[in-house]
Amino acid sequence: MRTSWGSATDRGRVRRLNEDSLLAYPPVFMVADGMGGHAAGDVASRLAVEEFSHLAGRISASPDEVHACFHRTAVRLRETVAAGRTAGTTVAGVVIAAYDGGSYWLVFNIGDSRVYRFSGGELEQISVDHSVVQEMVDRGEIGPEQALAHPERHVITRAVGTGADPEPDYWLIPAGASDRLLICSDGLTTELGDEALRRILATVPDPQDAALQLVAEALTAGGQDNVSAVVVDVAAATDTPDTENTVRASQRDVVLADDASGQLDWDDEIHGATVPRPTRARVPEVLR
Ligand code: MN
Repeated sequence: MRTSWGSATDRGRVRRLNEDSLLAYPPVFMVADGMGGHAAGDVASRLAVEEFSHLAGRISASPDEVHACFHRTAVRLRETVAAGRTAGTTVAGVVIAAYDGGSYWLVFNIGDSRVYRFSGGELEQISVDHSVVQEMVDRGEIGPEQALAHPERHVITRAVGTGADPEPDYWLIPAGASDRLLICSDGLTTELGDEALRRILATVPDPQDAALQLVAEALTAGGQDNVSAVVVDVAAATDTPDTENTVRASQRDVVLADDASGQLDWDDEIHGATVPRPTRARVPEVLR
């Protein structure tokens, strides 16, 4: 079994600066969408990538370690950004997490960048935006269609910023043998609807090609914002396991491929057996 990935980012057709940053190196895949303009937003998202890159090259990462990355990003942001300036960044992504003998995706999010899972032909948004319009949707005041066109659709309610310590949300989902994950900034999802995302993820097999096509189509659709996409595949060497008779996989070593082609060799046993898959699970208390 192998994991492979691809990524692409573009400043878009309107903005002069790309304030998005991304990281794609196992066990961590993430995007950060900076706010605050030159020497602030770009710095904020880059600091997030720098802190999360401390996890790169490891077999897996724990929730505590991920949370520490958020904390350190905020500390460095306060130290780095000039007093009186407003700067912040969204952060959304996944790390490979080992828990109770199984392999999981630990999904994390603060802000309105997103994590999706494409599995069995279905596209599911795992993360939940921290945004004014998401709160309106949650209260039943507007529907998803109205949210797309709402004048406050770009206003987020949480970020890693220079103020209070960040409060990201976490979800733990068992890693499926044929999962494809999409991590993206809002510059992608404001240009492309779910159907376009699903079509590209379903029809472009190579994750790097898929990431490039996602960004290219967002630019064609308008490219009003910076656009970033990371596509991560867990590609089964054999048929997808029958989840009706799941057993908990025993933990085995994960071996990094010795080339730099963006591919990771897994022990077959890790995903040869899978575990039941709740569609969206909060991280158990024990992991907090
Ligand atoms: Mn953006």
